[in-house]
Amino acid sequence: MNIIDLRSDTVSWPTPEMREAMANAPVGDDVYGEDPTVNQLQDEAAAMLGKEAGLFVSSGTMGNLVAVLTHCGRGDEMILGRDAHIFRYEAGGSAALGGVHPNTLDVQPDGTLRLDAIQRAIRSDDAHFPRTRLICLENTQGTIGGIPISAQYIAEVADLARQHGIRLHIDGARIFNAATALNTPIAELVAPADSISVCLSKGLCAPVGTVLVGSRAFIDQARRARKQVGGGMRQAGILAAAGLIALRKMSTRLHEDHANACALAEGLAQIPHITLDLSRVQTNMIFFDLAPDAPLTPAQLSARLKTEYNILMNPYPGFTHRFRAVTHYWITREHVEAAIAAVRTSLS
Ligand SMILES: *Cc1c(COP(=O)(O)O)cnc(C)c1O
Repeated sequence: MNIIDLRSDTVSWPTPEMREAMANAPVGDDVYGEDPTVNQLQDEAAAMLGKEAGLFVSSGTMGNLVAVLTHCGRGDEMILGRDAHIFRYEAGGSAALGGVHPNTLDVQPDGTLRLDAIQRAIRSDDAHFPRTRLICLENTQGTIGGIPISAQYIAEVADLARQHGIRLHIDGARIFNAATALNTPIAELVAPADSISVCLSKGLCAPVGTVLVGSRAFIDQARRARKQVGGGMRQAGILAAAGLIALRKMSTRLHEDHANACALAEGLAQIPHITLDLSRVQTNMIFFDLAPDAPLTPAQLSARLKTEYNILMNPYPGFTHRFRAVTHYWITREHVEAAIAAVRTSLS
């Protein structure tokens, strides 16, 4: 990349190895279950995450939607964070298409939902109430900083869910970042969950795709939900071939992105007019605030970085002075140094 694109890890391009694998992938009709590369991807993802089966879907949003549609019926309720991607950024799909009622709780600074708040939110059996069917956690919790949540906490939520006959879904768009940061084996991290969606196209660099994993029975049902939302793909092995490289190779190098995020954060934190809490940089995301009396407004800084330095870094929507930067495979240590120098010069 000759542009230093720090807007998100979704901007990461597929690697040359992925393009090569895509060109050579054996394929078949996946709606018939006959695409060997898709089948391989689904099986490997399930095995890595310690679940029985997997389902390849087009996006993280579709993975979450298919999971919610499979776990819940119309008028059922799911408990999730007010800052959850499912609640904030998925166009209300679970309500629009599934009639699923969201019961939102505050997300704590450590990415968790309070156990006592979950407990209180679970409905008793009363004709006035929707039925609580599902709890959704997000790991890493994106909007508050890419914060990883621990295996211990997930197990506690799963215990609570099980006591009430409720399912647990993890939006694991960045679950490999979480496992890397926590130094917890991925299968252990998600062991108590009934379903997990794992994005292949963020830090893992595949061009397209998410894998949803869970029990065989769950995935059999989920396949129908995927078809209902138009997600049955044909020779999707072309895409799954990149996904296999994402799982096998890209998932093991995320500590490099985290180290680059730390280096970027440490450099930015020393620049006048910038406030940045280094303790919150735990994976590949950095949030920082520009002082209101800085020589440039957030929009001006963003424009200056783009036009003068080919660096893309955007103000974070919903905040007046906040920026988010995200590191990924295509951001090198030299890019990090260049970005720090460019911000310093622009603000001096
Ligand atoms: C990116 C993301 C998704 C899904 O996004 P798509 O753009 O639909 O692939 C879901 N959950 C979280 C936490 C995400 O960051």
